Amino acid sequence: DLSRRIEVSANDELGKLAETLNQMIGRLDQSFTAQRRFTADASHELRTPAAIIQAESTLALSKSRNPEEYRSSLEVISRESEHMAGLIDKLLSVSRSDSGQPLKLEEIELDRLLKDLAEEFNPLCLSRQLACRIDRLEPVKVLGDRLELRRLFINLYDNAIRYTPPGGSVTLSAAIRDGFAEVSVTDTGIGIPKENLAHIFDRFYRVDKARSRAEGGSGLGLAICRQIAEAHGGRIEVKSEPGQGSNFTVLFPLSDKPDHSGLPLRP
Ligand code: ADP
Repeated sequence: DLSRRIEVSANDELGKLAETLNQMIGRLDQSFTAQRRFTADASHELRTPAAIIQAESTLALSKSRNPEEYRSSLEVISRESEHMAGLIDKLLSVSRSDSGQPLKLEEIELDRLLKDLAEEFNPLCLSRQLACRIDRLEPVKVLGDRLELRRLFINLYDNAIRYTPPGGSVTLSAAIRDGFAEVSVTDTGIGIPKENLAHIFDRFYRVDKARSRAEGGSGLGLAICRQIAEAHGGRIEVKSEPGQGSNFTVLFPLSDKPDHSGLPLRP
């Protein structure tokens, strides 16, 4: 039972040892609770698409249906399994990083990585009728894990696109500011109300659950972004105005400045 404290009414070494143990147990207890919550939330998230797939296949099998009805069932099943696969992918990413899996560090030219991403996303931008542009792309090198950094910027870019109505714009930039690499993704989308801003990096948190789900969201994207930024000795900031748009900025230490301790900390 982790909620029980070790009671030692002595002020000597034994008392100090008991206090240290109590603090350690308290931390363990907290991390068990967080782990249990994560497992419960993850199961809950996976149950929804699983239930829809099950219901839709039962419906399709229950009676003879015309080709159009079969097609519609298959479309639902296909969409939901895609959603489920994406969710599993994100859950794996979270647990990999929880288990402290080391990064595969190499020198990354962030500007190139972003340029490639912008090209890959171009068809999606066009189909959503968004103007996706690169504002400023200075050569910026950091020490990082290529796949993880890609994942981070894909999540931010993907959000910017999903939460911006047609006719809007999404802008990428990479620059060096005060000796740090600064990458930002700015959109002219729906924005985030002030009272929600403090929570958007929490696992499974969404401002508008229905909207996020309709877009295939899981509420894990930004939690993953923050984990990746921090694993690289960096941090991520957000500015947003409802109805105006959002700006996500990631700051990293530059690779030619190996002393990561100089990173400006959260004010
Ligand atoms: P999701 O999979 O729901 O998009 P995220 O963790 O990526 O989850 O984001 C959490 C929530 O933050 C989203 O559900 C959305 O409400 C909000 N959000 C994230 N990015 C943006 C953005 N660019 N514009 C507006 N809202 C955003």
